[in-house]
Amino acid sequence: MDIISIYAITAGGVFVALFLISILPYLYQLAKSLELYISRYLIFPFFLRRHRFVGPWTRGAVLIHLLYTGVNLFCLCFGVSSPTEFADRSGTLAVVNMVASYTAGHVSFYSDILSISRHTCLQIHRGTAWMVSGLLVLHVVLISTIQSSFSLDRTSNLFALIGAGCVVGLTLFTLPYIRRHIFEVFLRTHQRHIPSGNRLSKICIITTFVLLSIALLLQLGFLIYRNRIFSLRGWPRARVSCNRPRIEGENDSNVIIQVRVALTRPVRIKAGQYINLWIPSVTWWSWTQMHPFMVTSWSHSCQETLDILIQPRRGFSRELLKQARSAQEGSASLRAFIIGPHGRSENVDRYESVMFVASGFGITAAIPYLKKLVYSYNTSASRTRRVHLVWEVKTLDIAIAVQGTLNSLLEDDVLKKRYILTISIHVKSGQIIGDVMKFGNHDRAVVYNGHANYDQILHAEMSGELIKRLPNAKEEKGESLVMVAASSRVRDQIRLVLQDYVHQKAKMVILEYQP
Ligand SMILES: Cc1cc2nc3c(=O)[nH]c(=O)nc-3n(C[C@H](O)[C@H](O)[C@H](O)COP(=O)(O)OP(=O)(O)OC[C@H]3O[C@@H](n4cnc5c(N)ncnc54)[C@H](O)[C@@H]3O)c2cc1C
Repeated sequence: MDIISIYAITAGGVFVALFLISILPYLYQLAKSLELYISRYLIFPFFLRRHRFVGPWTRGAVLIHLLYTGVNLFCLCFGVSSPTEFADRSGTLAVVNMVASYTAGHVSFYSDILSISRHTCLQIHRGTAWMVSGLLVLHVVLISTIQSSFSLDRTSNLFALIGAGCVVGLTLFTLPYIRRHIFEVFLRTHQRHIPSGNRLSKICIITTFVLLSIALLLQLGFLIYRNRIFSLRGWPRARVSCNRPRIEGENDSNVIIQVRVALTRPVRIKAGQYINLWIPSVTWWSWTQMHPFMVTSWSHSCQETLDILIQPRRGFSRELLKQARSAQEGSASLRAFIIGPHGRSENVDRYESVMFVASGFGITAAIPYLKKLVYSYNTSASRTRRVHLVWEVKTLDIAIAVQGTLNSLLEDDVLKKRYILTISIHVKSGQIIGDVMKFGNHDRAVVYNGHANYDQILHAEMSGELIKRLPNAKEEKGESLVMVAASSRVRDQIRLVLQDYVHQKAKMVILEYQP
């Protein structure tokens, strides 16, 4: 590209940017007025329900994927004059698509930069990965049929084969860590494979490397800054304990690992945000792992310690549990580092009613929001007049472990003898005697036997009739928010029920952590 073209494109870009900025308020207004229709006809309804291997796909997701595929097909086919050009285009398009996915490194960092949720970011990543794989397979098949002989003595062929091997490896290895590294190998080998005439691919690969390097350096910088790595005052430490000792013959899935990280640099964490936790000394392999966890402690100012609740699984978390149990004083103290906070925080204060639907450990995503809502109500900083937590658990173990936190929330929530918080815990049938039981000393926390009836609960919440209103005052019902951190079964159910209430100012938010 000559210097005049670069100037023309830059100047044009500046004018387009200025124009877009000037029409931004109108675009916002337009988006606001279309929001209801988009939610009702595209975001909520399923195109394909959840099945064992596919789904669920919403209409909106299908439309976006079709659009994305259509644009790529157009770029692939428009004005192609020979099979060789078609093959070259498929390779170049694959590289162009890769830029979108691999410039920011870690998914948490990527979603923060784009201000989208981790969930959306993973969907974008998955979509582009499928597109890249499809285009590459096409590229390899076409090249091997067009070329009369595919000699591995040619460096470009050899690197093409390594690149294709990486794609096969990508399909075989599902671990995100390996997946990312396989793609990096792929990028490097493809750089060697790209013919010298293909400038666009070269620009894309160089751009990816430059942006990826910047992103990795920034992440390293954040890690050093956040944990004061070079400070003489020591590094952050995590105190790890669990709620009960090992019981022979019982599995540990209902045990809770409690972690309190004492930071060296206080940090402000908004409700609903998570951190990536790095505890290098848990096992000999754990120095390579970072795990995301919701922060359950919340404060309107900076926090010096962070509380995390962890469910023991098979890997890092199980080893952490072993460390907690083997500690002499009942808790282990380990060197720990954090990166973050990451993730979006919803502005819950503007809604008249907020409902949380959680299952099992999904409660970790709801707790900080509950703390924030009670604080905002007590300081008259919110419009919220009703908060309902509906929590499904298999056994009461986890509920008992967080009982202290829930009780203190209920105790804090008594401004002028009025309150906003109600808690309904639904426990698997047979775990309690009778159908209903009080939870703790508060009438506002109740345990029910069996699954929650979301149809009924949402109908009552969305009608607004559970909010006390002034008699004879004609008050319009405010906006309602339903936040979900639950199993896929519950999520799908909520989505189905809630689509009937979109016109009643109801919004659904999928929280960053889904158990
Ligand atoms: C944003 C977010 C917040 C989370 N908050 C909590 C929380 O507050 N409490 C809690 O108990 N769990 C939380 N999790 C889940 C938690 O990160 C995983 O359970 C944990 O990483 C499991 O580690 P493991 O080696 O023991 O897992 P394994 O037994 O090896 O795997 C169990 C499951 O955890 C997933 N997993 C493993 N490693 C990671 C990783 N590095 N990143 C993401 N998922 C992984 C695997 O896909 C698998 O489904 C959260 C996950 C996310 C994405």
